[in-house]
Amino acid sequence: MRLRNVTGSREVIAASDLVVHEPQAYRGKWHEIFGNHNPIRLEIGMGKGRFIMDLARKNPDINYVGIEKYSSVLIRGIQKLEADPLPNLYFIRMEAEEITAVFAAGEVDRIYLNFSDPWPKDRHAKRRLPSREFLQRYDEILIPEGVIEFKTDNHELFQFALEELEPAGWHLEQMTEDLHHDAQMMQENIMTEYEERFSKKGNPIYKYVIAR
Ligand code: SAH
Repeated sequence: MRLRNVTGSREVIAASDLVVHEPQAYRGKWHEIFGNHNPIRLEIGMGKGRFIMDLARKNPDINYVGIEKYSSVLIRGIQKLEADPLPNLYFIRMEAEEITAVFAAGEVDRIYLNFSDPWPKDRHAKRRLPSREFLQRYDEILIPEGVIEFKTDNHELFQFALEELEPAGWHLEQMTEDLHHDAQMMQENIMTEYEERFSKKGNPIYKYVIAR
């Protein structure tokens, strides 16, 4: 099968048991998928999935779900996970706007946003994954002590994300404007594909950790 052929990726995804199909059916019942009651953490916009695969390998007692909207990107993650399957990691192909239809209140322990699309036009602000509209959705599915971790090299997006916190009822727990030179926040850092690319170019990486 020629997986490089993007037109085939929907079929490959539909046939993959690494992907949760019809994820709405598991709302409130994700522990059934994993067969345990371990905490569940999400990466929204996982891209090719290296970050979430490394995290899942490192933390077998935590369950992970990687969310990606494009089949042509998700297929890369599926290929990698097939070569080295992990019992505590599943993928979903979906638009993150639907997240509250897929996870019930308090079902998620932590959310990772890595190098989210900037949507630079003002009229598209609601589509930005750290926008107040999305923070409201995360609020619905996260446990009370749940946190969100966000990394980006995009200064404008990071400024925007900081300004969204207070109106949405969140506060900073940790923040850096140069992650790769912040010894404390770099402990346990797991690089994403975009992070590797942009930090190699010399771009500073911004990161926050927020809670309610
Ligand atoms: N997290 C990866 C990829 C960053 S690119 C990394 O750091 O390397 C951003 C990814 O998020 C893209 O693959 C894009 O398709 C996905 N994405 C953006 N908006 C999304 C949304 N609303 N729902 C689901 N996935 C989304």
